[in-house]
Amino acid sequence: MDVNSLLNRKIKCNCGKEHHVTIANITIKKDALNDIPRILESLNIGKRIHLVADKNTYEIAGAGIERLVRVRYDVTKTVFQEDNLTTDLNSIEHVMHEMPSGTSCIVAVGSGTINDISRYVSFKSGIPYVIAATAPSMDGYASAVSPMIVDGIKLTREASPAIAIIADTGILAASPYNMILAGFGDIIGKINSLADWKLGALLTGEYYCPFIVSLVRESLEICISSIDGLKQRDPKAIEALTNALIISGIAMLFAGKSRPASGAEHHLSHFWEMYFLQKGGRQPLHGEKVGIATVIMTDLYNRLAADGIKTSRFDNDNPDEIKAGIKAAYGKQADRIIEENFGGKKVTIDHAKITGCKDEIIKIASEVPDCRVVRGYLEKLGAYFLPEQLGIDDELKRQGIKYCMYLRNLVTILRLYRITGKDFFQT
Ligand SMILES: [Zn+2]
Ligand SMILES: [Zn+2]
Repeated sequence: MDVNSLLNRKIKCNCGKEHHVTIANITIKKDALNDIPRILESLNIGKRIHLVADKNTYEIAGAGIERLVRVRYDVTKTVFQEDNLTTDLNSIEHVMHEMPSGTSCIVAVGSGTINDISRYVSFKSGIPYVIAATAPSMDGYASAVSPMIVDGIKLTREASPAIAIIADTGILAASPYNMILAGFGDIIGKINSLADWKLGALLTGEYYCPFIVSLVRESLEICISSIDGLKQRDPKAIEALTNALIISGIAMLFAGKSRPASGAEHHLSHFWEMYFLQKGGRQPLHGEKVGIATVIMTDLYNRLAADGIKTSRFDNDNPDEIKAGIKAAYGKQADRIIEENFGGKKVTIDHAKITGCKDEIIKIASEVPDCRVVRGYLEKLGAYFLPEQLGIDDELKRQGIKYCMYLRNLVTILRLYRITGKDFFQT
């Protein structure tokens, strides 16, 4: 699927929605950066550009972009010097302060953090932004939200997507190998998120779009078949991974929610992330945690397919017990999590519905690949596939599996396990 065929038009879909994104240009190819002046010209963005980069991304791509665009534009810049840059209010204010009034476009040069900071600054200031990607490390390039750290807690803030995404596969192929692995981990997570979304549609009638699913699945499969190339940093394989990461973002924009790209594997990753944020120091990359969590979730699906659902074992929700568990697991975030689960918009799964849909549930579960195959993809690439490889001990692993589902009030494999009284930790 050529990603550009999804842009600059309204797609009337069988799901009943008209899918549309505001991203005007996506360029993924070798030497794409040379096209930047032409792309900016086509976007009609005015003459004043503010570049945002960190010291590394400035060196590998930012300085080159600056040279190219100076010919036709006035260029100012913010280059972060920190080693552990985070998306927080300080970083955002830093850019807002350095960006001159009259700036007509922000050009962000980087991956996760630089993209998140710039997206939020763009949203706050109303100035459009273009992202020049430097690593295929996560699927937020086409995202419309900005994760942000406030008081050591990660929150998601509204923002708007870039007007153009430029990915030079030569630069991306030379990025640190763990960033390539993280990108692959984020993509492999779609195996689970797509199954979770289908469960949600089946059990609660939530919105679901087979066209969006097919987009994500196709790009996921191309990535899996590119594993050998990724190991060699082959530009074609890097292109396939980058394409999948961007399609994943577009899928979320099309759906108007994160469902196509984020399920229980992301909830577990976020749960562990809270621990790492509190602990401080070097943070594991998002996709590293997602990859490991995907092995765990696919194992649960495999066991569901093998064991079936014994309806006599339905767990009776005991709200007080669950709330006490949430308080212990989430500390100062507990009130927000309790509100998410017990507030007015609580999603309930009707037990009779589960009994009536048993066969369809098992069909969804049996379509999920064997967890050993998923683990094998990660292993083959040299990526982490076990929690302990990231320093997650058994206690944190179990607490995450038991309580991460409460982060979002949505049907996932974990919710189904709990509600049907299944044992997460059966050996
Ligand atoms: Zn649709
Ligand atoms: Zn992700």
